[in-house]
Amino acid sequence: MLGLMQKQPLLISSLIQFAERYHGDTEVVSRRVEGDVHRYTYRDLAARARQLANTLEQEGLQFGDRVASLAWNGYRHLEMYFGVSGSGRVLHTINPRLHPEQVAWIVNHAEDQVLCFDTTFLPLVQAVHAQCPTVKKWVALCDADKLPTDAGIPGLVSYESWIGGASSTYTWPEFDENTASGLCYTSGTTGHPKGVLYSHRSNVLHAYGAALPDVMGLSARDTAMPVVPMFHVNAWGLPYSAPLTGCKLVLPGPALDGKSLYELMEAEGVTFAAGVPTIWQMLLNHVRAGGLKFSSLRRTVIGGSACPPALIDAYRDEFGVTVLHAWGMTETSPLGTLSTLKRKHLSLPREEQMKLLQKQGRPIFGVDLRIIDSAGQDQPWDGKTYGDLLIRGPWIIDSYYKGEKSPLVFDAEGHGWFPTGDVATIDPDGFMQITDRSKDLIKSGGEWISSIDIENIAMAHPAVAMAACIGMPHPKWDERPIIVVVKRPGAEVTREELLAFYEGKIAKWQIPDDVVFVDAIPLGATGKMLKTKLREQLKDYKLPGV
Ligand code: ADP
Repeated sequence: MLGLMQKQPLLISSLIQFAERYHGDTEVVSRRVEGDVHRYTYRDLAARARQLANTLEQEGLQFGDRVASLAWNGYRHLEMYFGVSGSGRVLHTINPRLHPEQVAWIVNHAEDQVLCFDTTFLPLVQAVHAQCPTVKKWVALCDADKLPTDAGIPGLVSYESWIGGASSTYTWPEFDENTASGLCYTSGTTGHPKGVLYSHRSNVLHAYGAALPDVMGLSARDTAMPVVPMFHVNAWGLPYSAPLTGCKLVLPGPALDGKSLYELMEAEGVTFAAGVPTIWQMLLNHVRAGGLKFSSLRRTVIGGSACPPALIDAYRDEFGVTVLHAWGMTETSPLGTLSTLKRKHLSLPREEQMKLLQKQGRPIFGVDLRIIDSAGQDQPWDGKTYGDLLIRGPWIIDSYYKGEKSPLVFDAEGHGWFPTGDVATIDPDGFMQITDRSKDLIKSGGEWISSIDIENIAMAHPAVAMAACIGMPHPKWDERPIIVVVKRPGAEVTREELLAFYEGKIAKWQIPDDVVFVDAIPLGATGKMLKTKLREQLKDYKLPGV
């Protein structure tokens, strides 16, 4: 017997329709590429998203056609989130920090028909446009009078003149909720990037999940600022969860330095933010250096790579800001787990609570986890035994776009699980902790060393601004860890002092063999440390005594 409830599909257009009707006067504030601050409301956003949808009709784009963006977090990009997906096309958010060759490869693979870009990325577009034959329209996300002249891109138009003449009257179409809504490529540190094709259903369910109190806990009283880029896994779903809850949105545009972020947060009363650890470290440095305080910020989600415990402590102790440590991947939309305490943990001593909050956290309803060994056997959830992390759920990837074979691992019941490439432990309460990416684990004498543990200790040293642990070849032990360190400006620490800092904190054999001081650690397209590049840079390095 079937239930007798309405069968309304879960569609992205419903999010903006909801925000327009029930939170119409709530603001969306954006720092523009031009440097000024733009503000309008969900009502304005919805009207302009409809204009964009009409423009796509006029352009002759079919249902399912791909429209690409190369853009910062800003209102025009947000209009694309709704105008493109809501009208049944697929929004392909491209990471502009990728190498031009990779960008061209991705555009061709996705067969993008329209590409809209912030003028910051004009040189990138100039470098790739001739290699992108599927793109029939290039659109600069700017006012008509800001359109770059003599750009050498045939038919280039400004976004404002492109959508300006279109009507804002448009009826959002209804279609199957499993229809593709967005496309995002993994950064492809090995081989070609792979396309993850989200659906309306997966994104709307993810938006519900993300907004829960034990997850991002968003409400119509919040002001949310996604610092995580909208070209990186949909800014962790915030462009969808914000209209779903009716919170005010603040989009920081290209100004991602500590000073600009801080000033925008203070000016707009940001209560909630989200981003990768390197951004939060930068902001912390800025606020500390200026003796500043956060007057409105209460919570921030930090994820995308392991958040050093010292960073969580600093925000809590010095500024009263709660850090929510989260884990996820492009393939998981991205939220998989987030760390918040359970009721039974409230009576624990602070130190015990902090141990839990440093973990990557508990799964959000909808997501299920397993850890397995190399023979595929489930490992115990004792918080100590680690295994390869598998995940399944309605917002987890089934197969890659144009992928030939399924990436999934199947269990005895025939359920497909996505192997994350991460190695993790799970404790009896379901708190997952990432030991490492399997490719970053250091194998020393048949035992594994977690590079994250080694980095977290270095990051707790007051003279260390950034630290990356990598394994170096060793004739006897296979690999031995070294720690590559960027010192804080003006701070001093010697190799010997830093190595001594590890004593008593981890087993002796896990202590790095050496410290290498560098001016900078290479960062990837999403602000994460790029260990592949670091290994390349240190290819002539030899361990002491080897
Ligand atoms: P890429 O970094 O390759 O672009 P993703 O952005 O999808 O791809 O990154 C996913 C990976 O980032 C995870 O598999 C995991 O290794 C790492 N990661 C994400 N969040 C965390 C976290 N909180 N702690 C440790 N690692 C994390």
